[in-house]
Amino acid sequence: MSAVPDGKKLVRSPSGLRMVPENGAFNSPFSLSEPQWVPDKECPRCMQCDTKFDFIRRKHHCRRCGRCFCDKCCSRKVALPRMCFVDPVRQCAECSLVSQKESEFYDRQLRVLLGGGTFVVTLGTSEKSETMTSRLSNNHRYLFLDGESHFEVELSRISSMQILTDGTSPGGATSRPTGMLLHYRPMGSQEAQQLRMEAADDKKVASLWLAAMHKAAKLLYEARDQ
Ligand SMILES: [Zn+2]
Ligand SMILES: [Zn+2]
Repeated sequence: MSAVPDGKKLVRSPSGLRMVPENGAFNSPFSLSEPQWVPDKECPRCMQCDTKFDFIRRKHHCRRCGRCFCDKCCSRKVALPRMCFVDPVRQCAECSLVSQKESEFYDRQLRVLLGGGTFVVTLGTSEKSETMTSRLSNNHRYLFLDGESHFEVELSRISSMQILTDGTSPGGATSRPTGMLLHYRPMGSQEAQQLRMEAADDKKVASLWLAAMHKAAKLLYEARDQ
């Protein structure tokens, strides 16, 4: 275990080397914990193709689901940023597909979220609104909203998120996101607060940012259900 400058540390698990925050309280809300590995004695056969394990056909555990497979069914090494692995790790066919899709989120949407977008923000049922830049914090834990005033919303305190669209695309075509309605519980408060964000001047960037937020929400719910 060795400390590195930005509050992260390297830890070695049976599955590989991981780079995690020094303080577990600062884990990314998108992160998943490592699965329990199915014990060797409970899997005499590959859980995919049913090949019997022996001296030659060795067992391999999928790093994402912890199930036990032969080499053929668990040979792909795929990046798994949600478990903080430094290098690509061995995964079964099913898991590697999911992880590949998530890589797209990490490579593209996450960058869009960190970059930010400009919105007209209304808190609660207030008549007053303010033009603010909204971006995800570097540790992914907060939405920072900056304008004349500043406030932040902790992602773990969001109870519902609704993406608003322009609704001009009948016939099932994907309509463009134009805003977002959030409900969250501010720190130290029992009551849910409503936050409405509508795309401001640069609608294209705002629209990309909202689409990215929509993907982020799916990952968040998965991580919570774990
Ligand atoms: Zn197999
Ligand atoms: Zn798997």
